Amino acid sequence: MKILVTGGAGYIGSVTSELMLDSGHEVIIFDNFERGHRSAVDERATVVEGDLRDKESILSAMSQSKPDAVMHFAAYALVPESMSQPEIYFRNNVIGGINLAEAMHTVGVKKIVFSSTCATYGVPERVPISEDLPQKPTNPYGDSKLTFEKILQWYHDLHGMQTIFLRYFNACGATEKFGEDHDPETHIIPIVLQVALGQREKVFICGDDYNTPDGTCVRDYIHIVDLAQAHILAIESDFSGPFNLGNGSGYSVKQVVETAREVTGVNITADISDRRPGDPDTLIAAADKAREVLGWKPRIPELSDIIESAWKWHQAHPEGYND
Ligand code: UDP
Repeated sequence: MKILVTGGAGYIGSVTSELMLDSGHEVIIFDNFERGHRSAVDERATVVEGDLRDKESILSAMSQSKPDAVMHFAAYALVPESMSQPEIYFRNNVIGGINLAEAMHTVGVKKIVFSSTCATYGVPERVPISEDLPQKPTNPYGDSKLTFEKILQWYHDLHGMQTIFLRYFNACGATEKFGEDHDPETHIIPIVLQVALGQREKVFICGDDYNTPDGTCVRDYIHIVDLAQAHILAIESDFSGPFNLGNGSGYSVKQVVETAREVTGVNITADISDRRPGDPDTLIAAADKAREVLGWKPRIPELSDIIESAWKWHQAHPEGYND
C-alpha cells in the first residue's frame, strides 16, 4: 500500500514507518519538523514538509500523493504542557485533524489509522481498561485526542471512511535506528536513562501518595516495535473502531526506576516531588480486542527488555538526534 504518514519524523511515527517499509509498503512522510527530527526519517521514505494547521499544505500533499491510506501520528503529546497551554493542543490536534480528514474526503482516501491514547479514559471506572469504558479525559491532551476520535467517527458514519483508533498506553523502547528524543523530555524512561548517562543529577518521582501499592503511579509500558506492528495489522485490516494497545501489566514509577538501575548498573538517584497535574493513579490496558480481532501479540512484553532497548539507543545517541 501507499501510506501517507503524518508525524513520520516523530517517535512512534519514525519506528512505524521503518517497519512498514521493511514489510514492503510505500511511505510518504508529512511532517513540519517542529518536534520531529530529520534524522528520524527513514531514508527509504518520501518526505513532504508541511503543517496540518495549514489546510492547503495537507490538501496539496494528499492530492499529489493520492495514498491508499493515512496513518496519523502528528500531534502534541505532553500531558503537563497541555495543562498549561490547552489552546495549542486543540489547535494542533483537533483543527489539524479536521484539515487532514477533510483533505482525505476531498481526494477520496478512505482509510485512516489514528494515534489515540489511554488518556482519553481519564480516571477509569475499572482496570484493566477495555474499549467500552466511558471516556472522560482529565487533561486537554486526552480531550483533544477524544475530540478527534469523535470527528473521525462521523466521517466513518457519514462518508464510509474506515477509521481505526489505536489507544496507546505508555510507548517506550527503541529500535537500533530510532528512539525517543523530546525537547524538553518529560517521559519517565528517557529521563531515568539520562540520569544513568550522567546528563541529569536525579529523577523526580511525581507523587508517592497515589492509591497504588507503593504510592507511585502505575502505567502499562508497551514497546514501540509492538505498537508499530499493531499499526501494520490495523492498516492491512478491514476493521474500524477503537483498540487498546498495552501489555496488560502495570509497573509503578518506583519499579521503573528500580528496573532501570538493574539494566544500566547505575545507581540512579531518585527524589519524590509533587504530583503532576492531570495524572490518574493507574492505567493498565485490556488489549484482548487487538489480540482477538487484529491477531496482535506483543513480542517484547518485559519491562527490563523494553528499557534495555532504550538504553542501547540512548548510549548510541547520547545527545539524541542532534536536529
Ligand atoms: N513521571 C515521574 N517523573 C518524571 C516523569 C514522569 O514521576 O520525571 C511519572 C508521571 O507522573 C507518570 C509516569 O511517570 O505517572 C509516566 O509518565 P510519562 O510522562 O512517561 O507518560 P504519560 O503517562 O504522561 O503518558
